[in-house]
Amino acid sequence: MKKPLQVMKFGGTSVGDAACIGRVAQIVRDASRQVPVVAVVSAMSGVTNRLIEAAIHAEAGDLERTGAAFAMLRKNHEAALRELIRSEDKRKSIAGRLDQIFAEGERLCKGTALLRELTPRTLDAISSLGERLSAPIVAGALQELAVASEAIEATELIVTDNSHGGAGPLMQRTRGCCEERVLPLLGQGVVPVITGFIGATTDGVLTTLGRGGSDYSATILGAALAADEVIIWTDVDGVMTADPRLVPEARTIPEISYLEASELAYFGAKVLHPKTLRAVQDAGIPVWIRNSFAPSRAGTKITPQGRSNGGGVKALTAIRDVALITVGGPGIVGAPDVVARTFSVTAEMRANLLLISQSSSQNDICFIVAGSDAQRTVEALRKEFSQDVAHEKVEHITVDPSIAIVAVVGENMRGVPGLAGRTFSALGRENVNVIAIAQGSSESNISFVVSEKDVKSALIAAHREFDLGARVPQEVTTSSVR
Ligand code: ADP
Ligand code: ASP
Ligand code: MG
Repeated sequence: MKKPLQVMKFGGTSVGDAACIGRVAQIVRDASRQVPVVAVVSAMSGVTNRLIEAAIHAEAGDLERTGAAFAMLRKNHEAALRELIRSEDKRKSIAGRLDQIFAEGERLCKGTALLRELTPRTLDAISSLGERLSAPIVAGALQELAVASEAIEATELIVTDNSHGGAGPLMQRTRGCCEERVLPLLGQGVVPVITGFIGATTDGVLTTLGRGGSDYSATILGAALAADEVIIWTDVDGVMTADPRLVPEARTIPEISYLEASELAYFGAKVLHPKTLRAVQDAGIPVWIRNSFAPSRAGTKITPQGRSNGGGVKALTAIRDVALITVGGPGIVGAPDVVARTFSVTAEMRANLLLISQSSSQNDICFIVAGSDAQRTVEALRKEFSQDVAHEKVEHITVDPSIAIVAVVGENMRGVPGLAGRTFSALGRENVNVIAIAQGSSESNISFVVSEKDVKSALIAAHREFDLGARVPQEVTTSSVR
């Protein structure tokens, strides 16, 4: 019988320093005694942010700050290496590899400074360095524990389109590369340690899958290798009923469906990259979220169907870095082209639309876009409607960046009357003003817009109303291998 293959992904905090990497190596060693394991690693925590900042300084011609950032990164990685690897020869060999990667980064930054231009392709190349640095260190830490291991850059494995900053995988080609490069290693009992976050086009140009994309790397590799499970190791106990940083009573959810987890991720639950479950959708591979700081805890199992918690609402989430744009005024009543023109502008601007709401009076069309898209979208709308504003057909086009979307999510909310009523009554009791509301016809998500300052109270009120802190049975369900 085929042994169950596990793909294990470790996020930034899980590989944040030598002590964390040591724990990761133990988790992988223990699992690899029972089943073949593929490890996928993020950059050490904070490193991708530092690299992006360095790239932006380079674009501004400030090579001094770029140099300072690289010096700091070099120090941190070398410190981890010193603590983890006892053999001097091995340490030197890994340090040599890190040197090459740093030299590449410095060359890329110098080129950027010279041209005063940071293209999406160069930004991808610079921001990929963190994963390329962490993978050899983690592989070295495994070798220290006598686990045969090899670091692999995912540019050899994950073939993508050329959408820099958010590339999508070409699965058939990816499968071919994985079968050729990874399966033989597994056959020899070697644990491949693969860089998360990155891939390469068919021409071999490095791409990234988007911020937080190592989760997606893990499921892409899981699907390509027909893994039995993907385990995403992070710094919390699993998918929780709300972000524990905002709602202290939040609890771990034992089992949740692909749809529910995707809705939560899409609406800001950082624990999972929004595209993660796309890759395993067809094969139905279960994805676990577990805590690398507390590996004895069961975590959350994400399955195609999920499991009911006995109520309609499963979890809450909030997305903060967004802006509310309103196009309106009494003059637009009965002017249907305003809607069409508004959304052709957002499409043209490639603005990421998160929520749309319009009342029947057509006084206002309001919608939410990602904060980074807001300014250029509003400028384009003002241009599109300049004549209408002059003739008072459109009265105002406004933008409010101090808002947030809160979403109430649960697949079993479908057809349960009263959930919206209970949500809004609970908010009312806490004096939280609701600015706009949307509910998709899938009925697995009620989203509403509140002022940024009210996010925490809104989450706490709804969490209490649906008794989410108590409802979740903390039973032990475990992955096939512990
Ligand atoms: P990693 O570095 O492992 O990828 P992230 O920081 O990307 O980890 O994601 C984990 C974080 O997601 C947690 O520390 C937690 O604060 C946040 N988070 C937001 N919403 C949720 C939720 N519903 N359940 C669990 N964690 C959540
Ligand atoms: N290191 C990348 C980021 O910070 C990818 C990841 O951690 O998932 O966005
Ligand atoms: Mg993450």
